[in-house]
Amino acid sequence: MNYANNILETIGNTPMVRLNKVTEDIQATVLAKVEYFNPGHSCKDRMALKMVEDAEADGRLKPGGTIIEGTSGNTGMGLALAAVVKGYKLICVITDKQSKEKMDILRAVGAKVVVCPTDVEPTDPRSYYSVSKRLAEETPNAWYVNQYDNPSNAQANYEQTGPEIWEQTNGKITHFVVGVGTGGTISGVAKYLKEKNPDVKIWGVDTYGSVFKKYHETGIFDENEVYSYVTEGIGEDILPKNVNFSLIDGFTKVTDKDAAVYTRKLALQEGIFVGMSSGSALKGLLQLKEHFKPDDVVVVLFHDSGSRYIGKIFNDDWMRERGYLDEEITKAVDLIQS
Ligand code: PMP
Repeated sequence: MNYANNILETIGNTPMVRLNKVTEDIQATVLAKVEYFNPGHSCKDRMALKMVEDAEADGRLKPGGTIIEGTSGNTGMGLALAAVVKGYKLICVITDKQSKEKMDILRAVGAKVVVCPTDVEPTDPRSYYSVSKRLAEETPNAWYVNQYDNPSNAQANYEQTGPEIWEQTNGKITHFVVGVGTGGTISGVAKYLKEKNPDVKIWGVDTYGSVFKKYHETGIFDENEVYSYVTEGIGEDILPKNVNFSLIDGFTKVTDKDAAVYTRKLALQEGIFVGMSSGSALKGLLQLKEHFKPDDVVVVLFHDSGSRYIGKIFNDDWMRERGYLDEEITKAVDLIQS
């Protein structure tokens, strides 16, 4: 018999898939690490389990305890799987920008979901940072995860995602491109890959409305860079401890519209049905193409599944209302249907 003892044992070892049509004007080999094959349908399953196990090990999380986190959804899903299997309660504090599907999914796996406004300062008592901290103080036997500053986040990607990428490319990877939110994925993977080969280039994909790119280039935390945006999962208005800027070779910024359009293209032209930050990552990669030589092996990581965005980017009315449904997509649809 060949089975896992519980769902948590199925986390990781996600496939890598070559991109063909969407990268056709790039000569390098472009491979996508498709993280929706994880049981919670995102890369965040890895770090969620690692954060829980590390907190259990040093007594921050005690039997029957309540896990509390301010999460955009995917980390919540990973935490929920760990909480169900290991017998913890979970409260997810989420912003009203997140898709309804994400909230419903979290509730389906037993989490309590608290919704906070998006457009308030992090220090505002209504912000999801403040509300999650307050709940953690007020709830007995609670553990506040804090994925932004929790070192187990990057460590999970150092121990798992990095080695998987290295092995799947037979050590031939030359560039890694990935969206940056808490920074756990980029920093953990970058640390592993650069230890194996310091010449591997690490590219972060940021969004307009976020501070990362400017901070990386100038060392200045510029509040004027901060405004609201649609893309979920990447970009921040804070500097999380998990972003290790010294391991990152450069950032590129992608617009909400491009992120939406390129996510749709991935579904239509490659059959890879992913979330909006994956469209950002792909468009970011295309923006960086002058850095890639024909013999290079470029790996891009797709964080989550398109199923969480059915009511958004995969809904033509939602796309049209924002002016995102342009010729690019119509052409892609025509191409596929002709
Ligand atoms: N894309 C999605 C959909 C995410 O949920 C996240 C996690 N915030 C990211 C990208 C960025 O990953 P990280 O937090 O590891 O930087």
